Amino acid sequence: MYAFDIHRPETLGEAARLLSGNEDAKLMAGGQTLIPTLKQRLAQPSDLIDLGQVGDLKGIREEAGGLTIGAMTTHATVQFAPLVKRVIPSLADLAGHIGDAQVRNRGTLGGSIVNNDPAADYPGAVLALGATVRTNKRQIAGDSFFTGMFETALDPGEIVTAVHFPRPDSGRYMKFRNPASRYAIVGVYVAKTGGAVRVAVTGAAACAFRWTAAEQALTRSFTADALESLTVDPSDLNSDLHASAEYRAHLVKVMAKRAVAGMM
Ligand SMILES: Cc1cc2nc3c(=O)[nH]c(=O)nc-3n(C[C@H](O)[C@H](O)[C@H](O)COP(=O)(O)OP(=O)(O)OC[C@H]3O[C@@H](n4cnc5c(N)ncnc54)[C@H](O)[C@@H]3O)c2cc1C
Repeated sequence: MYAFDIHRPETLGEAARLLSGNEDAKLMAGGQTLIPTLKQRLAQPSDLIDLGQVGDLKGIREEAGGLTIGAMTTHATVQFAPLVKRVIPSLADLAGHIGDAQVRNRGTLGGSIVNNDPAADYPGAVLALGATVRTNKRQIAGDSFFTGMFETALDPGEIVTAVHFPRPDSGRYMKFRNPASRYAIVGVYVAKTGGAVRVAVTGAAACAFRWTAAEQALTRSFTADALESLTVDPSDLNSDLHASAEYRAHLVKVMAKRAVAGMM
């Protein structure tokens, strides 16, 4: 690692001031991605701004019938929170399948969505649940937040403060995981609210996306069989040592059908 200065602000305002105008400063949440990146010398920040002491960024509360979860809330907190289990159980289940216990105890919701790893789980939840990302400057619709591989709609110097997840009537996330890292080779989150169905896919492509053909088919008939005639075009999907694009395309349908079957 290179030498850097570390700051431990206690308020959001202080964190924003430290970040503002310093292009070489980097925010740190749980450090689960950032620290390995520094160790591999893939980033060389002059200053690390550790958000761990900013109390306003932690916690889970019920709001407008859904859940507002602070950016610094760990995956383990989401996994075990009785409030999440009661209001959006599929979200608690998703959090409980991220990485291993160490990763879940350090990794955060904000760090996960800002990093926007193509294989991360939370982007699927943000899209399927129609969530809104809140920052220290504005609110960003989840549908517009993920802009590309490891890229988001955040401006330089912008800090994610929380994510608001509306409550679906029912939801289910199914992932085919990498047995070593537990990242999603393919993950599909299906959420049903009234007559509307949202289907989000993660792990398969450069960036999580909504599978609109499946949404339309499930809106007509909410059964796993309704997906049978659909195919997923592999040409835009990832191919790597873990799975070919064709295999991922196959898995998208399999995971979507399992998610729907689990909601019946
Ligand atoms: C071994 C291993 C296995 C994993 N398995 C999975 C898995 O199965 N599924 C999965 O989804 N993820 C997985 N992860 C990722 C993990 O869950 C973390 O969410 C991810 O690494 C981000 O870590 P972090 O929250 O500690 O953020 P950090 O590493 O501290 O930060 C990540 C990035 O986000 C920025 N950032 C952090 N917080 C904010 C904020 N509030 N506002 C603006 N920018 C911010 C930082 O500047 C940095 O660029 C795994 C990670 C590891 C190491």
